Amino acid sequence: MSTRDRNCKHKLLLLLLLMIFIPGCTGKSDSSEAPLNLLIITADTLRSDRLGCYGFQGPSDAPPITPGLDQLARDGVLFTNAFAPRGSTWPSLTTIHTGLYPLSHGVRNNGQMLSSDVTTLAQRLHQKGFRTAAFLNNMIHAPHPGFAQIWSIDDELGTERKYSVPYSEWDRRLTKNALSWLSKDQGEKPFFLWLHYMEPHEPYAPSLEMERLYAPARGAKNGTMRDLGPITLDQEDLSSVDLARIQGLYNAQVASLDRSILSVLRKLEDEGLSQNTLIVFASDHGEELYDHHHYFFHACSSYDSVLRVPLVISLPSRLPKGKRVATQVELVDLVPTVLDLIGPGGSFPGDNLEGESLLPVILEDKSRKNPYVFAEWVQRGHDTPGTGPEIYVIRSEVAKFIHNPTGFQPDNNPYGLREGVGFPQEVEEYYDLTVDPRELNNLAASRQAEVEELRKILNEWVQSKLKTTRTPGSPDEKTLNNLKALGYVR
Ligand SMILES: [Zn+2]
Repeated sequence: MSTRDRNCKHKLLLLLLLMIFIPGCTGKSDSSEAPLNLLIITADTLRSDRLGCYGFQGPSDAPPITPGLDQLARDGVLFTNAFAPRGSTWPSLTTIHTGLYPLSHGVRNNGQMLSSDVTTLAQRLHQKGFRTAAFLNNMIHAPHPGFAQIWSIDDELGTERKYSVPYSEWDRRLTKNALSWLSKDQGEKPFFLWLHYMEPHEPYAPSLEMERLYAPARGAKNGTMRDLGPITLDQEDLSSVDLARIQGLYNAQVASLDRSILSVLRKLEDEGLSQNTLIVFASDHGEELYDHHHYFFHACSSYDSVLRVPLVISLPSRLPKGKRVATQVELVDLVPTVLDLIGPGGSFPGDNLEGESLLPVILEDKSRKNPYVFAEWVQRGHDTPGTGPEIYVIRSEVAKFIHNPTGFQPDNNPYGLREGVGFPQEVEEYYDLTVDPRELNNLAASRQAEVEELRKILNEWVQSKLKTTRTPGSPDEKTLNNLKALGYVR
């Protein structure tokens, strides 16, 4: 036998061993030989601390607020410390789908078009024979490469007309269409289905039924930008009744979102797909809800109120049921985790995944190799790194450092409504999360040694990302109009 033949034989043997011992290598489940499907459900602007499975208690006389997600958490693995890379929809969702931080994939603000030299999860799976479909109520006009079929609320109601109905109606229609897609003959090919829900995004305008159950408090305020904007701009102190009312309206939208998710989970059961579908649930970012600087929204904030997200991964045939993981993880870890579970392996053009598979954390209680969470904020129009105001964030398990070298005050809505006002952000902010998890007491001045250590790691991280950063395409007119209607662009 020649050396070449021997090498080939060794490689073949290794391949066979890998196929036998690495779960998911064949794209088949261990239990049933049925192909594994992937369902990613993302919600817009959802805080984890509003979910029953994260400990939230709704009104005592109301039904549980999130029976669907609570069930998913009982069937899967819940992460109590999961973080988004940016408090903004397009950058964060693009991270979920590329396994790259915004600084690398280049979509650093809403409306930017992903560079064609990045490979998305959908492209990887579609190329391996998965049927891919996305049902979207936000980030509608992005390219979304790899999804063979895309439904959006614009298809049913039109880009302008859709704003005449509440987000709960958008989400109801999304669910209806997604269920219909799941009803169709699935054939032999596995599927990758992505659902992105709009609730509980502002305006907080739930249905009357949900409002009655979860926002019973009476107050003078409601959840529209017209009501909430001035509270932020004028630093208006809210009464406990008004704050409870506004947050109750947000919670009612969370309940409404969950009813949609519950329908999808039941449909999977009815279709016999529950056991062989990997389900990932996350949100793109959270919401301040008045936690800092009288601000309710998300795009300006780098605090945990916005960067912390719910994350549940469920695959009952392969992953533990009801497990809770406290190790801090990032949305950038999702692509490597999914690929580890269902494949496909192999490299793709421009491959350089930045997250890490969470399977060792889930299955072996191992530490995550990267002990930090990184996040960013960048001024629209100055998205090329180093050309304008940028804020970078590093979070360890015990401390957080926010670096805003230019001292810029982020000015998304509602600040965009008034010239010269922005989200207050110091040049350096350091929080000891062990005693100050709500990030209210900036210790940067008195903890310079710790600040210096985190700043060094953060700077090295930024420098390493600059080597791989992509230049995104600009939004077209239709996308810009849509972003303006959502309040993202002035
Ligand atoms: Zn969002």
